[in-house]
Order: sequence, then C-alpha cells, then structure tokens
Amino acid sequence: PQSNDHNDSSPNPANGLPTGVYPGKRANATFVTLARNSDIWEIAKSIRHVEDRFNRKFNYDWVFLNDKPFDPQFKKVTTALTSGKAKYGLIPHEHWSFPDWIDQDKAKKVREDMAQRKIIYGDSIPYRHMCRYESGFFFRHELLLDYEYYWRVEPSIELFCDVDYDVFRFMADNKKKYGFVLSLYEYVETIPTLWDSVKSFMKEHPEHIHSNNAMGFLSDDGGETYNHCHYWSNFEVGSLDFWRDTAYMDFFEKLDKDGGFFYERWGDAPVHSIAASLLLDKSQIHFFEDIGYYHVPFTHCPTSEKERLKLKCHCNPKDNFDWKGYSCLPRHFEINGLERPEGYETQMD
Ligand code: GDP
Ligand code: MN
Repeated sequence: PQSNDHNDSSPNPANGLPTGVYPGKRANATFVTLARNSDIWEIAKSIRHVEDRFNRKFNYDWVFLNDKPFDPQFKKVTTALTSGKAKYGLIPHEHWSFPDWIDQDKAKKVREDMAQRKIIYGDSIPYRHMCRYESGFFFRHELLLDYEYYWRVEPSIELFCDVDYDVFRFMADNKKKYGFVLSLYEYVETIPTLWDSVKSFMKEHPEHIHSNNAMGFLSDDGGETYNHCHYWSNFEVGSLDFWRDTAYMDFFEKLDKDGGFFYERWGDAPVHSIAASLLLDKSQIHFFEDIGYYHVPFTHCPTSEKERLKLKCHCNPKDNFDWKGYSCLPRHFEINGLERPEGYETQMD
C-alpha cells in the first residue's frame, strides 16, 4: 500500500484508480506538513480531504516535519491515511532556535508589548520559530532535498473540488514556481519594518530582482511603500528549487539578520510572497482558481458555476473570498492582464 512508483497511466494497484490522468510523466514532488503531535486529528482531516479530492489518483509522497519527534500514534494514523510514501523528519535544533545575533531582552520586550496590544500570536516564541522555519528552512530539510515541487498542507483545511489533473506536472510543464489560492492584506502590526528590509535588499542585490516582476501586486507606488498584499501560505504549491536558489537564500539571510522574525512577528506568508513577487517573472506565479480551499476563516470557492459543477465542488459560492474587499486577488488579475471569471460581481459582498 505504500507503493509510489506509478510512472505511467496504468491503474494503480493499490486502489484501482487511474494514475497519471494528466498526460505525461509524474513530477518529482511531495506534500509537506509541519505539525505537532497534538495536531494529529486536525491533520488527519486535512489528509483525508487532499487524498479524496486529488492524491488517491496520484499517490505523491507526504513529508511530515516537527521540531519534536513524532510519536507512534501520529505516524500510524497518518501513514494509514496517505496513499504515497509517508516520511517523518525531525527539525535540527539550529533551524528552530534563536540565532546568536538576536538580543534576547529586546525580543522579550517585544513579546510583552505585543501581548498587551493583543496582537495575534504576538507573545508566542514557537509561532516565531515556525514562521522563520517556513520562511528559510523547510526546503533545506534533508527529506525534501530529493524533491523539486511541494504542496504545503496544514491541519484543519478543506478541499472543495475534484482535482483531476497532476498539479505538480502542471507546475513543471508551465514553468510555474509558486501557486496560491487566497491572497489578502497582512496585519501591519506584525511587519512594521519588513518593507524597509526589502528595500535595502533591493539596493544591495539589484541583480536578483526580476525585470518582469510582480511589484504591482505588492506596491501601489512603484515600490516606495508596501500595500501589505500577500499570498496566504497555509496553502502553497511551489518549487523547492526556487527557495534553494541563491536569490532567495540571499533574501532570507538579509531578513534573518535584520531580526524581524523576533523583534517583530514577520510571517512566512509576506516573506514568501514578497520574494516570489520580486525574484520571479510574474508569469511564474499561478492562481489555482480550480482548487476550492478553506483555512479558517477564509474560503476560496471557484467563481464560475460551470466550473463548480464540473469539478463537483461542495463549497457555498457566497463564501468565496476572491472578490471581497479584503482580497488582493484583483491586483493579481490586473498586473497579469487576466479576465475575471463570469459572475464575480455577484460575489463582491
Ligand atoms: P495559523 O494558521 O497562522 O493560525 O498557524 P497554525 O497554528 O496553523 O500553524 C501553522 C503551521 O505550523 C501548522 O501546520 C502547524 O501545525 C505548524 N506549527 C505551529 N506551531 C508549531 C510548533 O510549535 N511545532 C510544530 N512542529 N509545528 C507547529
Ligand atoms: Mn493554520
């Protein structure tokens, strides 16, 4: 049942379903989940959604990462639920701890201050390690080194529509490097100086900034200020090689040295989003309109009814966040010259 070597379109002996429905070879790809042992039942639900809607047809691997060893029950349950090979990795201590250049007293004062101001996760140390890990380290974990593409899955998510083609193959065939489903404005309080660091990076490393970048998604004044738009990173389908490339490594190192993961509460979502938007050709960033998705408190439900019926979606179209006031998706459409799907006007509030 752990077999994963279905490289053709013959039926998968494990479940009798056709594999490789999307024409061509399989991609070198895996799911990746960062989780605690206590997340077991919430990640179980997520896996079930992803397997039922997509992966039972493709059987891609699933890598689980944790800053503490996974316990036997977590492994047993998740191995049973995944159709590809399940792998369990421990995060090295150096990737989940304070770097030596961080002033502990300063960081502590920030957490106390943010707690008082009731900023979400503002007082949390583990949340900061998590954001820094997702920003700069997961793609370097030894279990991920063999793969080229990943799909990030968090606990308690839902998928609403059938995904009948190989999403990873799609990325490879179309030279896509980053895929998202939801985009919105970040809480300014968590990233007050992030854009200053980004601007100084752009000055230091003009060679890394792509000439056909998506700056228009991030800024309404040509880069002077950040409009706080970001792709929501609890869902990501992306290229691991992009994060491992010098351009992004230089970017992460600059941000890490500036200390905002601890002196503020920089999230991996704005960090990934800014990097993808500046370092890639904007055509390499893909909006997965067809992947219906929920992570509390937002839903992406395909706008067009035709699409929803074709893909057997079970989401309520009224919940679709795409065209609501707090969504950044219209900017993505504008800068890429995309035409909005039929019926979007009815979903604006
Ligand atoms: P939110 O979506 O921003 O509210 O944050 P989550 O609580 O969902 O955390 C984001 C991801 O990191 C999820 O996949 C969590 O399971 C994982 N995560 C958060 N904190 C920790 C932690 O301390 N240890 C581990 N191993 N995973 C964590
Ligand atoms: Mn989450």
